[in-house]
Amino acid sequence: MSVTTKTKLLAEVEAFLSRGVFPSFVGGQDLPSSNGTLIPTIDPGSGTKLADIHDLEPELIDQAVDVANAAFPDWADTPQAERSAILLKLADAVEERKEIIAQIEALDAGKIEAQAQGDVQNFVDTLRYFVKLSDQVEPRTKLSIEGHEAWTYKQPWGACAFIFPWNFPFLLIGWGISPALAAGNTVVIKPAEDTSLSALYLAHLAKEVGVPDGVINVVTGRGATAGAALSNNKDIKRMSFTGSPEVGQLVGEACGRNLVPVKLELGGKGAAVVFNDVDVEATAEALVGAITFHTGQVCCDATRWLIHKDIYDEFVGHCVSRLKNVRIGHPLDPESQMGPVVNPKQCERVLGYLDKGKADGAECLLEGGVADVEGYTGNYVKPALLAGSLDNVAAREEIFGPVAYLSPFETEDEAIRMANNTDYGLANSVWTSDLDRASRVAESMVAGNSWINAHNVFAHGVPYGGVNKSGMGGGVLSIETLMDYYRSTSVVRPLPNE
Ligand code: NAD
Repeated sequence: MSVTTKTKLLAEVEAFLSRGVFPSFVGGQDLPSSNGTLIPTIDPGSGTKLADIHDLEPELIDQAVDVANAAFPDWADTPQAERSAILLKLADAVEERKEIIAQIEALDAGKIEAQAQGDVQNFVDTLRYFVKLSDQVEPRTKLSIEGHEAWTYKQPWGACAFIFPWNFPFLLIGWGISPALAAGNTVVIKPAEDTSLSALYLAHLAKEVGVPDGVINVVTGRGATAGAALSNNKDIKRMSFTGSPEVGQLVGEACGRNLVPVKLELGGKGAAVVFNDVDVEATAEALVGAITFHTGQVCCDATRWLIHKDIYDEFVGHCVSRLKNVRIGHPLDPESQMGPVVNPKQCERVLGYLDKGKADGAECLLEGGVADVEGYTGNYVKPALLAGSLDNVAAREEIFGPVAYLSPFETEDEAIRMANNTDYGLANSVWTSDLDRASRVAESMVAGNSWINAHNVFAHGVPYGGVNKSGMGGGVLSIETLMDYYRSTSVVRPLPNE
C-alpha cells in the first residue's frame, strides 16, 4: 500500500493496512467470503487503493446473526458492573489509539484528520455516556395498581443489527452500538462498503481488551446483498439503519414483514433561518463552516439558507469571499480545510445537481465544479452557492456536498413556511439576537432538531432524530435510545380479596 500524502502515516496505520485484505470479524475470528469476492476500499483523496474487504454472501450474514444470538445469554447475564468495566476498557483503548483510528478513518472516508480525531473522541464519549446511564437503570419498576402487585421488568433483547453509511463511519458506530451493548445486547455491524476499515479495527481492538467473542461482530459487503441479508434476517431482535431514505424504506419494509422493531436515521435538507438582527459576518462564517464541514456530506447540514432580505446581499458577499478561499486538499495535509467527497459517484452527484439546479432556473452565486489539488487525483469539488425559488430541484433534494441554496424572506411567518417547505425533517437552525423569536421559530419548524444561533449541536443527553423523510424512532444520543434496547415485561399478581 502506498498512499502519497504530505504527512507520513503512523507506523501502526502502515502495519494495519499492510494486511492488504480484510475479512469480516465474527465471533472473535476472521470470516472471509465463501468464494473470496473482494471489494477495494479507496483513499478518496488520492484514488489509491488502501486495501480490499471481503464481500460476504447472505448466508454468512445469517451465520453472523446466529453467532451474536449465541453470545447473547452470557453477555446479558454478565453483572452490570462487570459489563460496564469491559466497555469502559474499550472506551479507554479507543481513546489511547485515537490518532491511529482517526488516520485510518481520514484515509478511508476522506475526512480531514483533525475532524476524524473529533469523531473518534465522540465515540469514546458516547460509549462512556451510555455505560454511565445504563448503570443507573433499575430493572424493576414497581407499579401502584389497586388490587394487584405489579412491576415492569427490563431486559435486553438479543442480537441487534446496525447498518451504517460512509460519512461518519466510526462516530455513528458509537452512537448506534453503545446503548445496545451497555444494556446487554450483542451487535452485528454492517459498515458501508466504502468505509469499513475503522469498524474492523474496532472489532479486533474489542477482542484485544476482553470484550467476549460474539458480542461485537462486523460483517462487510455490498448493500444490496450483505445489507439486505441483514435487514431481512428473521433472528435479529432490533434493527437500526442510518443512510438514505431510499434504502431506509427497503430496510423498513423488510423489518415490517418480520415484525422487527426498526429505527431509521435518514437524510435531510435542513434550513438556516437568518434574521436581520444578527452579526452578518459571523453568521456567514458559521454557515460557511457548516457547509464545508466534511465537504457537506452531513445529513443534518444547513443546505437551505433563508436570509432576511435586508441583509441578503451583504450576507451573500461574505459567504462568496469566504468560500472562494477555503483550502481544499488531501485529508492528511494539515493545511487542508476541506477534503474530497467519498467516491467518484458522489462527485458526479454533486456536479450533476449544480447542472440540474441551474437548468431548473437557479441563479448561480458561486460556480463550484471540479477542484484541482496539486499532486492528488482525488474526488475534489469546490463549494457552490445557488439561489432562487425553493421549488428548484437543488432546493428540494439532498445533494450531500458543499452546496448551499439561498432564498430571501421578509417576515417571520414566511420564513417558517419556507423552512417547512420540504419532505425532510431532520435539523434546522434559527439565527437572531431576539431569543423570544428564536424559541418561537425553533418550535415551529417541523423537524427532529432545532438549533439556535448554531448549527450541528450534539450534546450527550439531548435526543437526536428525524421525522417525515428523515426517519423514525429517533432519540439517538439520549436516554430514549438506551430504553429502546431494553424490552419490558409487565409482571402482575392479582391480590386476593381480604
Ligand atoms: P445508503 O443508504 O446508500 O447506504 C447506507 C448503508 O446501507 C450502507 O452500509 C449500504 O451498504 C447499505 N445498503 C445499501 N443498499 C442496501 C439494501 N438494499 N439493503 C440494506 N442495506 C443497504 O447511504 P449512504 O450513501 O451510505 O449515506 C448517505 C445517506 O445517509 C444520506 O442520505 C445521509 O443524509 C444519510 N445519513 C443520515 C444520518 C442521520 O443520522 N439521520 C447520518 C448519516 C448519514
